[in-house]
Amino acid sequence: MVEIPKSGAKEPKIMEHFSGGCQCGAVRFLVTGPLGKSGICHCRMCQKAFGSWGAALVSVSAKNLSWTRGQPSLFRSSAIVARGFCAKCGTPLHMREDGDDNFELAIGAFDEPSRIGPLTEQVGVEGRVSWFKDMHLLPEQTTAETRTPQDLAKLKSLQHPDHDTDHWP
Ligand SMILES: [Zn+2]
Ligand SMILES: [Zn+2]
Repeated sequence: MVEIPKSGAKEPKIMEHFSGGCQCGAVRFLVTGPLGKSGICHCRMCQKAFGSWGAALVSVSAKNLSWTRGQPSLFRSSAIVARGFCAKCGTPLHMREDGDDNFELAIGAFDEPSRIGPLTEQVGVEGRVSWFKDMHLLPEQTTAETRTPQDLAKLKSLQHPDHDTDHWP
């Protein structure tokens, strides 16, 4: 969503909104304003925190971030970093270094993750898993190709939808 305020500013200021949240919907957030740099982190702590090859993260100023439903729980993964996650469903949501003005938000938790980016850097590459570089070469299948029509008919998502809701569930 792009809003152009009708204030007396000489140049219209484009204010972008980005919403997102955890898988179960107990924690939702809204980013108002520009996003900072985005990239991926291969460090061993991000691998553990995300249960994955690492993490895709985007930097967001704390003053532009609001928690619109619930609050993330925090786990201190090191003496200087806290990581936020949903205590109900476990979705990783952010990491933040003590005293930093910015949150590093999990790009996959945004409602429209493809709007974030382009990604500009890889960090923590000493932890990169050996198979990461060939991931894009893996054979590809859609969900419809891997499930029977009967399976698909039964597959009812319990995940919060990719937009804000007045009431949930
Ligand atoms: Zn949740
Ligand atoms: Zn990391």
